[in-house]
Amino acid sequence: VPVEAFDLIVFGGTGDLARRKLLPALYHRFAAGQTPGDALIIGAARRRMDGAGYRDFAREALTEFVPESHLKPDLVEGFIAMLDYVPVDAATEAGWAALGRKLKGREARPRAFYLSVAPQFFGQICERIGRGRLVTPETRLVVEKPLGRDLASARALNAQLASHFDEHQIYRIDHYLGKETVQNLMALRFANALFEPLWNANHIDHVQITAAESVGVGERGGYYDQNGAMRDMVQNHLMQLLCLSAMEPPSRFDPDAVRDEKLKVLKALRPIEGAAIDEEIVRGQYEAGPDGPAYREEAGDPESRTECFIALKIGVENWRWAGTPFYLRTGKRLKARHTEIAIRFKDAPHSIFGDSAGALKGNALVITLQPNEGIELRLNIKDPGPGGMRIVSAPLDMSFGSGAGDAFRMPDAYERLLMDVIRGDQTLFMRGDEVEAAWAWIDPIIAGCEEGRAPPAPYAQRAEGPMESHILLHKDGRRWREIA
Ligand code: NAD
Repeated sequence: VPVEAFDLIVFGGTGDLARRKLLPALYHRFAAGQTPGDALIIGAARRRMDGAGYRDFAREALTEFVPESHLKPDLVEGFIAMLDYVPVDAATEAGWAALGRKLKGREARPRAFYLSVAPQFFGQICERIGRGRLVTPETRLVVEKPLGRDLASARALNAQLASHFDEHQIYRIDHYLGKETVQNLMALRFANALFEPLWNANHIDHVQITAAESVGVGERGGYYDQNGAMRDMVQNHLMQLLCLSAMEPPSRFDPDAVRDEKLKVLKALRPIEGAAIDEEIVRGQYEAGPDGPAYREEAGDPESRTECFIALKIGVENWRWAGTPFYLRTGKRLKARHTEIAIRFKDAPHSIFGDSAGALKGNALVITLQPNEGIELRLNIKDPGPGGMRIVSAPLDMSFGSGAGDAFRMPDAYERLLMDVIRGDQTLFMRGDEVEAAWAWIDPIIAGCEEGRAPPAPYAQRAEGPMESHILLHKDGRRWREIA
């Protein structure tokens, strides 16, 4: 469905995110006929250049980050024609009057300011947007992680944004929510009568959420070391996936109904404090190995106690989930790049097939986000052939494809999210209170870790994290799914 003509101002339009994600995403939507040719996209950053310079910059970005088969010269030129540029300094007055002039007379159109800059500039940019009277009733503001590094800073950031924008104008991106399979998790749960009656502690043994990366921290080690996996991945992406898996059915698929339910999940999380941190949290750091130096070396601190792997056992304290834990893990330099949510149902109560049939494992619903999006339901079936009644686990598979050479291209999360911004639909964006509730739960864990709890254990590269992570589930008689 095409969106109406809009103006999008990308602060940090010359940065890495703009080059790799935003410009390609906007191109794909234009190529699909979703964005009208009279949309205006203004790059705004410190670098001195003019509109023509920015159009060259964008052309190069598309060549690098859009698959060649999707680069049609007339479409590229049509898209490039929508681009303009204004040199603007967030920290001074330079460029702001020129930006105001470009936007003059365009107040009736949806207008979006995308802050693709370091968060220390958010306050100044909002302030200058406000002072320049650039906020119209149809204005939206888009921000991305990191949204604070603890509850206090998240509150301060929310207050900064709120001084010039209403909550209904603020779009906090968590790009995991823009993934097709994540939205499909909601469709699966709430558009089918099949799953919801089973979606509770009576039938679900536990839930595993894994976000494994094969890369290390590399040259960003020094920066990463100030944050760690808990801030970088758990507070935002993994907790959002937990919320969508655990939330009650909202009464309507509308932004506040959905976000109210997610917030209730965050508020129902059992606090992990004091000695429980050692019991329910495992942290790790990779050692030197085939893919590069040890984490501590890349971090530039031989004594670093920051985790680049973390596993957590989380309880959701409500009627639906009492007794069914959610296990989360994420880490770098693991065996493969793989992100999934696995809902593990309880074992069948009794096997009529006898011991020789093989163990009847509980069914699993596996929602894969990366590298290939797809949904798989694992069922127990008879092993085909004359070998007797042997039971094996087999998948009902609904993978969305996207292997190299596939004609079908899975839209990137940013495509969906950018169009939602223009449409004014906040359903897939985090509300300020959600971000704060996630930090409120995380703060005591980080504080405990800083006092020496759950010290990071070393782990080998290309493996599945430290042994302690396996023990975390083993203690409960469970095991992680293999990272593959
Ligand atoms: P980057 O360093 O590549 O780009 C920063 C941009 O900010 C540049 O365009 C630069 O010109 C501009 N800038 C810097 N100082 C400025 C100033 N004083 N006034 C105006 N513009 C200024 O950073 P990035 O990787 O593109 O990331 C941007 C933001 O998005 C960061 O907050 C980052 O945490 C977040 N983010 C990035 C990614 C990613 O994949 N790169 C993913 C998620 C979130």
